[in-house]
Amino acid sequence: MSGKTPYVFNIQHFSTHDGPGVRTTIFFKGCPLRCEWCHNPESQLFTPEIMTDKDGKVQHVGQQYTIDELVKDVLKDHMIYDQSGGGVTLSGGEVLAMDHDYIMELVRRLDEQEISIGIDTCGVAASKTVEEMCDYADFFLYDLKFIDDDLHKRYTGGSNHLVLKNLKILAENNARIFLRLIMLPGINTDKDMIERTMLWLRANHIPVEQVDILPYHKYGMDKYAKLGRKAIYFEVPSDEQMNEVKSEIEKFYDNVTIGG
Ligand code: SF4
Repeated sequence: MSGKTPYVFNIQHFSTHDGPGVRTTIFFKGCPLRCEWCHNPESQLFTPEIMTDKDGKVQHVGQQYTIDELVKDVLKDHMIYDQSGGGVTLSGGEVLAMDHDYIMELVRRLDEQEISIGIDTCGVAASKTVEEMCDYADFFLYDLKFIDDDLHKRYTGGSNHLVLKNLKILAENNARIFLRLIMLPGINTDKDMIERTMLWLRANHIPVEQVDILPYHKYGMDKYAKLGRKAIYFEVPSDEQMNEVKSEIEKFYDNVTIGG
């Protein structure tokens, strides 16, 4: 297996949360960001890791697959994709930060099999890869964490410059965009911040098919300890706070969901 072959940390069959229909979601390992709330900390490093639980039980995270192996695995559910309007979603970590040739070859092979492809991305990726992906992806689940670059740098460890640039590229290529907004009370949920985000989208003619507002949650935080890292906790939004954000966004877009 080549050194450029990405690592995968999970393959989830029968997923119903990663785009339309029933899907297989492939989670690639490695992400350019370090979001402080990330509930998949094992997705961040591009290399294999070991998670050790309190009882000393060890779990190896990260496995390489050839493209043939991945295609064969996802083809097992081809009929279910057809019946449900589903397909395959490539996620992470950040799938668009994996080796360009590998990922493009994978999507070409899936496309040959007429499998719907969804891309779940944080937007921090080479614009060349994003643009080429528009020829193959049926839709993008696009995370926009903070419209404010200072907040983006503070809480994710990286600038939102590429996130916004790549979102414009998707719009120019008429991609189907399902926008995903993580909600962190006291940080990005106030009315002004939501309005600023919506006005940016409007000013840049971003055709969003659906806005999913995702409440911050604490599931998966135990994984930090298993990796020997310290978790950082945020406030969980109330239903009332989520509904307020939803109403605010509905002034701009009709199709808004809580939780995706
Ligand atoms: S972009 Fe996603 S995978 Fe990457 S650090 Fe942030 S939450 Fe985690």
